[in-house]
Amino acid sequence: MVIARPIQGKHRKIKDRINIILFAIFLITPFIYINGKPLLLLDIPARKFYVFGLIIWPQELYFLHIILLFLGFSLFFWTALAGRLWCGYACPQTIFTEAYNWIARKITKDRFGKPSMKKSDWFVVYIVWFFLSIFFSLVFLSYFKPYKETLNQILNFEFFIPTTLIPQNWVIFLALSTGAAFFNMAYFRENMCRLVCPYGRFQVALLDKHSPIVTYDVKRGEPRKKPNEKVGQQKGDCIDCKLCVLVCPTGIDIRDGLQIGCLHCGLCVDACTTVMGKFNKETLISYKTMDQIENPQSKIQYFRARTIIYGTILIFLLIVFSYLLYKRSSYIYICSKR
Ligand code: SF4
Ligand code: SF4
Repeated sequence: MVIARPIQGKHRKIKDRINIILFAIFLITPFIYINGKPLLLLDIPARKFYVFGLIIWPQELYFLHIILLFLGFSLFFWTALAGRLWCGYACPQTIFTEAYNWIARKITKDRFGKPSMKKSDWFVVYIVWFFLSIFFSLVFLSYFKPYKETLNQILNFEFFIPTTLIPQNWVIFLALSTGAAFFNMAYFRENMCRLVCPYGRFQVALLDKHSPIVTYDVKRGEPRKKPNEKVGQQKGDCIDCKLCVLVCPTGIDIRDGLQIGCLHCGLCVDACTTVMGKFNKETLISYKTMDQIENPQSKIQYFRARTIIYGTILIFLLIVFSYLLYKRSSYIYICSKR
């Protein structure tokens, strides 16, 4: 399991702010009820989906399909426009990893991941992570089952189907979700991005030479400092301090080029900015497009075929969604008049 070293910098600050906002949205949303109706509840047994004030019935699942299509194309659009923003800043895997690490640092007084961390520290961390996984799974469950119902069943010890020893569906869901969250955060972690997540695999198709990516300046950096050289003796600017690798949440070396495991989070940019700053030099790692790497004077082209096509599809989906919503409101209005 990779435990990234904390680093301060511009990207860290942006990440922290986005993490707090998205985390708060995750924790609060299933508990918001307006006029007795949940803001977001995917009630599968009742075949009724509450989505931000809209109640979707099974015969109206096209609303859900349009919302999912919209989210999918938004991902394509933002990736083409600004790189893997989703992976680095908004993906639940990234946000939960930060949360689990933050808690671990708090309870080990910043010994987390360091050689000074004792086995007893690890034991406490794993116990806390386990309860944290139960808590997050309960919140996650509340997106599919009203939280008051779950609370009542917990308080009344209704964990099994009456007169049997078969667990209720929500208990199975909770157990599986807790197990998956704990396994992921305590063991699997960066492997999810490097080996499992399909999005990392088709990023090559979503990015083009005008999409910003995190890159290492090979021309300036190489040849990097060799182990037998002193700092300053090397021909290139890279002093091979490896801080960019130590701060990386997936443990990769960006100096090896574009990789599936790179989330484009920019933490290695912060690391190299700190190191190079001590030599009054610019960072060797930065957000650049492939075009800017070949031709440093070129500017990012935001308006290009790919972004225009994705943008047009998004607008089209928005129009279709609004039209269907309008038609459906009129229908309800006519029915209620009868
Ligand atoms: S942080 Fe910068 S100087 Fe240090 S190894 Fe990485 S690229 Fe080289
Ligand atoms: S290589 Fe840099 S940008 Fe990519 S995941 Fe690691 S720290 Fe983030």
